[in-house]
Amino acid sequence: MVDRTFLSWPFLEGKHAALYERVDAWASAHASILHGPDESSAAAAAVVRRLVGEMGSEGLLATATGGANGALHGPLDARSLCICREVLARHGGLADFAFAMQGLGTGPIGLFGTDEQKGRFLPAVAQGKAISAFALSEQAAGSDVSALATSATRDGNGWRLDGEKTWISNAGIADLYVVFARTGEAAGAKGLSAFVVEATAPGFSVTKTIDLIAPHPIGKLAFDGVRVGAADLLGAPGQGFQIAMATLDVFRSTVGAAALGFARRALDEAVRHATNRKLFGQPLSDLQLTRAKLADMALAVDAAALLIYRAAWTKDVKGARVSRESSMAKLFATEEAQKVIDSAVQIFGGLGVTRGNIAESLYREIRALRIYEGASEVQKLVIATRLLADAAT
Ligand SMILES: Cc1cc2nc3c(=O)[nH]c(=O)nc-3n(C[C@H](O)[C@H](O)[C@H](O)COP(=O)(O)OP(=O)(O)OC[C@H]3O[C@@H](n4cnc5c(N)ncnc54)[C@H](O)[C@@H]3O)c2cc1C
Repeated sequence: MVDRTFLSWPFLEGKHAALYERVDAWASAHASILHGPDESSAAAAAVVRRLVGEMGSEGLLATATGGANGALHGPLDARSLCICREVLARHGGLADFAFAMQGLGTGPIGLFGTDEQKGRFLPAVAQGKAISAFALSEQAAGSDVSALATSATRDGNGWRLDGEKTWISNAGIADLYVVFARTGEAAGAKGLSAFVVEATAPGFSVTKTIDLIAPHPIGKLAFDGVRVGAADLLGAPGQGFQIAMATLDVFRSTVGAAALGFARRALDEAVRHATNRKLFGQPLSDLQLTRAKLADMALAVDAAALLIYRAAWTKDVKGARVSRESSMAKLFATEEAQKVIDSAVQIFGGLGVTRGNIAESLYREIRALRIYEGASEVQKLVIATRLLADAAT
């Protein structure tokens, strides 16, 4: 029985509980298509395409993009994003991925785009007719965004993009990419701008797909004199870093929510297995060391949920920057989910390291969440920086 008690916490409203039930019912009804063949990014890409189409026609992606029709775009509701990601991750990693990327890939447009840009790009993504991507990372600029080298130079009324990106989720299946490039208004992170690049643009190519331990569509991009118009610049020149960070500020706690979904699944599966498995003449769950493990897992799950919904509530209700809260949520939820899942593997014994076992697949799914959208070390730096700044005032 999945724990739903958190739905009555004061951080959440009735609409969030209703959304939870709706997404849960959709995921249960679509169980057969949530899991892809477990071999390659290319195989996972086909599953993600299908999931985006299904979620779009069901109206679920409107939560990811901030509205059903884009042009009438509303603010993103962080708690709704977290609810969707938690539920979808509990059902399957690719479902969470398909949903989350429609949000991350359009977040900069929703937050900083003009009405014309929102109207041009968001409706198709909300309806699942187009796939979006967020292209920030490069070979030499992962954690260190200030080292970003892809350039955008003025070219008539528009811009010309040259460079390479890597680790770009949805590479190859995305129809539009929000690309961060150096425009040089200042040194380092202050000299970046954000552009929307359509996959059909001449000079744009996907040069490689990358196979992950938990396959998702992901790869490398090349920009060889890609021309974009002035209307494809998001915000102002030099605002790129601010756009990237503001978007990640919203989505960081949602990464924690996905980790929470994986952890809840691991806990539920571990409880079920420990109750059914007989050892030394009794259920595994009757052994005290097992009970201690289950207690630690349950504590980690609840504590992660508190941090996640605290961060999302602060964003939605207080309307403040939530770097500290969302970094705490992501850091704690992803690190603890890794431990919870590892405990589930242990409780499953040999089955837990067998290909196709749920604990084994969660063990692979969780790992990347401690690295992307700011590795755990980066989250610690964000938290400490805020702490020290607050102490100095
Ligand atoms: C599955 C997956 C999906 C991704 N999707 C996208 C995407 O859609 N778009 C996109 O732009 N990028 C994406 N990324 C890239 C991701 O954001 C980067 O991998 C991440 O920022 C880390 O960069 P890096 O891999 O270059 O590692 P590096 O920057 O080389 O860091 C290596 C390690 O150093 C440690 N570290 C980092 N900073 C510090 C510090 N200050 N002090 C001490 N240790 C530190 C961390 O443990 C880190 O893991 C994705 C990555 C993965 C794995």
